[in-house]
Amino acid sequence: MIKSNLNALPKVHRRDILRRGLKCQCPNCGRSKLFKNLLRIHHLCPNCGMTLERGDGYYIGPLCINYGIVSLGFVAPLLICGVSSWIPLKLALALAIAGALFLPILLYQFCWSFWLMIYYSCLPDELHANRPEDSDDLMFEEEQRKV
Ligand SMILES: [Zn+2]
Repeated sequence: MIKSNLNALPKVHRRDILRRGLKCQCPNCGRSKLFKNLLRIHHLCPNCGMTLERGDGYYIGPLCINYGIVSLGFVAPLLICGVSSWIPLKLALALAIAGALFLPILLYQFCWSFWLMIYYSCLPDELHANRPEDSDDLMFEEEQRKV
């Protein structure tokens, strides 16, 4: 039953993947959000059944993006400003610590969506909507799909 819905999905182009990534939507169908709540990504897309969280190691991509943004985009500039006496060092340290604690949580969803956007922009043929009907589908867990 779901198989016919999946086959009915239109081909997904890179611009669709980028648009859906910026909106934190499923890169395959674009009809559902990626997250159950602030910190829980759907294992499978509730609409199309595509696996969004693909198991051990797949979280490293969002983690690296999150770490890079927080450390290079927030903490390091603040510490440079503090050491250079452009702002008081204690203030810079306090802001850097607060940012290091809370920014990763705030950026979590964006980083996951950005990771999926990068991944599927580089490998658009891995999206189910872009696969031929007779392909060997390793990304979809047929028995776990919701009808
Ligand atoms: Zn979907």
